[in-house]
Amino acid sequence: MTTNAEQQSLLRKLPGVDRILEQTKCDPFFKDIPVSVVVESIRSAIDQRRQAMREGNQVNVEASLLESQIVAQVKTAVSMAMTPNLRPAVNATGVVVHTNLGRSLLAPEVVENLVMIASRYSNLEYDLSAGRRGSRYSHVEDILCEISGAESAMVVNNNAGAVLLCLETIARDKTVIVSRGELVEIGGSFRIPDVMAKSGATLREVGTTNRTHLKDYIGALENETGLLLKVHRSNYSVVGFTAEVSLRELAKLGTTHRIPVMEDLGSGTFIDFSKYGLMKEPTVQESVATGADVITFSGDKLLGGPQAGIIVGKKNIIDQIKQNPTTRALRIDKLTLAALEGTLRLYRDESQAIRQIPTLRMLTRPVQDIETQAAKLAAQLKSIGDARMQIHLIERSSRAGGGALPLLELPSRCLRIRIQGLSATELERMMRYHTPPIIGRLEENAFIIDLRTVQDDEIPFIARAFEALVQRV
Ligand SMILES: *Cc1c(COP(=O)(O)O)cnc(C)c1O
Repeated sequence: MTTNAEQQSLLRKLPGVDRILEQTKCDPFFKDIPVSVVVESIRSAIDQRRQAMREGNQVNVEASLLESQIVAQVKTAVSMAMTPNLRPAVNATGVVVHTNLGRSLLAPEVVENLVMIASRYSNLEYDLSAGRRGSRYSHVEDILCEISGAESAMVVNNNAGAVLLCLETIARDKTVIVSRGELVEIGGSFRIPDVMAKSGATLREVGTTNRTHLKDYIGALENETGLLLKVHRSNYSVVGFTAEVSLRELAKLGTTHRIPVMEDLGSGTFIDFSKYGLMKEPTVQESVATGADVITFSGDKLLGGPQAGIIVGKKNIIDQIKQNPTTRALRIDKLTLAALEGTLRLYRDESQAIRQIPTLRMLTRPVQDIETQAAKLAAQLKSIGDARMQIHLIERSSRAGGGALPLLELPSRCLRIRIQGLSATELERMMRYHTPPIIGRLEENAFIIDLRTVQDDEIPFIARAFEALVQRV
């Protein structure tokens, strides 16, 4: 503990902001840093020292040493202030469409076009052949129709918006019949009953949690019925004694009673994953062919594009949606549009889509390939040569994520890492604090790196993170 007199003498040594600012002026580290950032960092560094002195936590040192300690602290603060909050991270969780880590990565050729559109003027809403105002939606409408087989298409900001917009346009002030087993909640508080309420439509739930029959829908039909809605369960599954009404049966019922039928596919895919040894997911093309009047799905889940809400269906309904003023509020941004168009173009050739769209490539990645990468990382970690590190190559399953294929377990290869003297939670935290952050998972007091979702060029980052870590502990 410092005495009051000592504390006073310490506090007197504390330099002013101007004095430290003067020192930073001749230090090349601060050359391109805005002065406001430097001043703010100096203030906070001095405040912290003052606080430490008052609490008796500051060793009494020479004034010049104190100043250089403060300058070092200012450098750390400046580095933090200059790093964007939104930054790249390594996804070592094995969850391919990881909502918290940005869902889908864009293909490199898609990014190239995106950068071009971002930095130049474009024909976003300009019809080049007519020389007058055009529609931003036109850039993706044709290709969406071409791939899905639908009559018409349009896109908004995200799928939650797409569902809201469709319900409001088709069923405002009317009732919408949905099976009780399909009243899902998706992460980030998207709940079908709440979206329904917001749209001004009235929910008419039918059936039970596990079983819903066609007669339940028929029994609920009334004059006010405006829509039959089918929702993909996305992130859960009903197994055991179950029954549900197929889209085909609903479409037939809708045709008979002249009531439109909508399907919220959630993830939405153009590719039949069962061809690649994965589980069957209903494709957009199948839903269109089955006769749904309108179908909504996400751009950044299994599709592997940017965040977007895609709506395909019958022309008369899509035309009504385009007229709805809410469409303007959910308008898709030009960068998203550029990325979406680029991604959709890759779907013209399925094998190309699988090769080039990262989400599809990771989902269909051969386990041998993952094992090779795991072995490569293990070798790099072992070459650090720290005897405290225990590294094992193990077999685990990865997941599709993003509210898709919840039961699917993709056989994968992981590294299980332990460092003697360091708990797994500490290890996990230090990896998370690293630049770039490395996000893995914990299992039985070990840190697990699933190589399925680690990009090849990220392997050296991980090795370097461990190298830096063992030097510090
Ligand atoms: C994910 C999902 C949504 C929401 O889509 P976003 O693109 O996240 O807005 C809506 N409905 C279902 C069934 C979903 O799976």
